[in-house]
Amino acid sequence: MSSPATSSHVPPRPSAWARAGAVLRQRCPVCLQGRVFRSLLGMHRSCPVCGTVYEREHGYFLNSMFIAYAAGFLVLVPSALLLALRNVSVGIFSAVLIAETILVWPLIFRYSRVLWMHIDQVLDPRPLPAPADEAQLPSAAAPFAAPHPGAPPNSGAAVGSGAGLGDDD
Ligand SMILES: [Zn+2]
Repeated sequence: MSSPATSSHVPPRPSAWARAGAVLRQRCPVCLQGRVFRSLLGMHRSCPVCGTVYEREHGYFLNSMFIAYAAGFLVLVPSALLLALRNVSVGIFSAVLIAETILVWPLIFRYSRVLWMHIDQVLDPRPLPAPADEAQLPSAAAPFAAPHPGAPPNSGAAVGSGAGLGDDD
């Protein structure tokens, strides 16, 4: 009688090391296994392993912009200071910083989103979606957790490929 509810159960809390490893490998904040990105800037809509939808709500990834902004600041300011101390020309100064921005932006974009999802998962844990065998039962699965029966598990729909984060100008 005291078995845990199966429709929406919070996964066991992973160790800090396990979560840090998942962040470094850019994995799902819930199961720590599924890949978050399917291409350089393209995200999976949901976890390929556990089915968690990454974009928890509309505008969910706005918070990752703050992380990206801080990371960009931390990366670019030392370079800018170094260049300024060496009295390089404005052209070289600009070229180096623009090149550095272009090179590190994909990394910052990816890690800011992954880090935000993991921070959010720690602060406000979301349950694992219903397991696949439960989800296939027509009536037993929780209505919010059951995917559409015809939908492939990894339909490749992308969530924002950085189009919404072009706030550098
Ligand atoms: Zn997952």
